[in-house]
Amino acid sequence: MEFNFYLPKVNLIFGKGVSFKMSDEVKKLGSKAMLVTGRNSMEQLGFTQKITRHFKDDGMEVTLFNKITPNPTSDSVNEGAKVALEKKCDVIVGLGGGSAIDAAKAIAIVAGHSSTQNQNKFGSGQSIWDFSQSQSSPKPITEKTLPIVAITSSSGTGSHVTRFSVITNPELNHKVGIYSEHIFPKLSVVDLDIIKNMPPALTAESGVDVLTHCLEGLVSKAGNPITEEMALQGIELVFNYLTDAFRNGENLRSRGGMALADTYAGFVITTSRVVLPHAMSHPISAYYPNISHGAALAALTPHIMQFNIEHGDNTTLQKYCLASGAMGRRTFGTNKYEAMKSVEAVKELLEKIGMNKGLQELGIDPANINNMVKSTIETGQGPITSNPVEVIENDIARIYKQAL
Ligand code: NDP
Ligand code: MN
Repeated sequence: MEFNFYLPKVNLIFGKGVSFKMSDEVKKLGSKAMLVTGRNSMEQLGFTQKITRHFKDDGMEVTLFNKITPNPTSDSVNEGAKVALEKKCDVIVGLGGGSAIDAAKAIAIVAGHSSTQNQNKFGSGQSIWDFSQSQSSPKPITEKTLPIVAITSSSGTGSHVTRFSVITNPELNHKVGIYSEHIFPKLSVVDLDIIKNMPPALTAESGVDVLTHCLEGLVSKAGNPITEEMALQGIELVFNYLTDAFRNGENLRSRGGMALADTYAGFVITTSRVVLPHAMSHPISAYYPNISHGAALAALTPHIMQFNIEHGDNTTLQKYCLASGAMGRRTFGTNKYEAMKSVEAVKELLEKIGMNKGLQELGIDPANINNMVKSTIETGQGPITSNPVEVIENDIARIYKQAL
């Protein structure tokens, strides 16, 4: 056994009401905060106002940027960076789901690498797209990135503890993961009082995201024994708590179980990365921004698990058998039959939480599959190479068709 496990310093505050106890930690990072949120939920629930007051009471300045839409776009990031520069913000606080946190990370990159002197058409001097590793020669993301605080309002993306920011460029129909160790949040906050407000549909969609991060991290070629243990633990937590969190959102025990699974999943994908389901889900969101990340993953995952089990080596089969066990299935030995129990368990869970919808039911036009295949190949090389089974273009097209 030989491996390298790298996890940078994490500062995680986890519990009920903890977002009103964090200003001391935030003040160590800066005194002029930009609070980055989505358009509605955090304000409607009163958290935007309460956190702003908490910071101001502690002597900080706060600039609100509340224009982030789900699947955040490069334009909104560039606009946010411009405001952060104008207001001389020195710490960027994302409050919301993966979209607000990813946007906060991307704003921290652009604002940190710009100065008010060299503004161009983007206003901030830079566009986040220049830093995207999908470019042939991306600009390096350095320690100039402003410090990031991530207060997660969902249990899905793990973004509060990852080095990824997923941004969409609507002109190119590309949705890509921008990554750098400089965008690890310096402070990660999981407040169950915020998370418990997730409506059932979001609980289900983001819960599927957690599950797939664990499942993909488990089988990824880039994984190691430590991430595998965390992934299995995350899978077990999802199977124990997701259905109840979906049905009974006020239950803090179930919310806590899912938030813990989400945090494990973030640690896992930071090292092991994701594999084929994520590579194939991003083109779906790029072409159909109204289809949630979780819904796209739910449609694809059982088919990709089956593909990996059918063509996987013994190590891969073993991992899927361990997954079957973590999902509460009794397994006997390592073989395809036992591994397929994990697929059955996932399908049952998806049904219980109303996520058992095919791509066509989600609104995807089969005529668009060729474009999505092309986009997967163009944007998904990292996850594709980490998939435990080699995949070629035809496999991707076939899986999209099976998932219709
Ligand atoms: P979003 O952040 O997109 O939020 C979805 C919707 O739920 C929004 O309308 C939001 O409202 C609302 N919402 C969020 N939290 C609450 C709450 N507590 N109560 C009520 N409503 C709420 O969802 P996700 O967290 O699933 O993030 C998805 C994004 O993250 C995708 O772009 C995905 O690709 C990305 N992602 C990032 C990863 C990473 O490592 N960085 C990993 C995997 C995915 P409003 O808009 O008003 O705030
Ligand atoms: Mn995801």
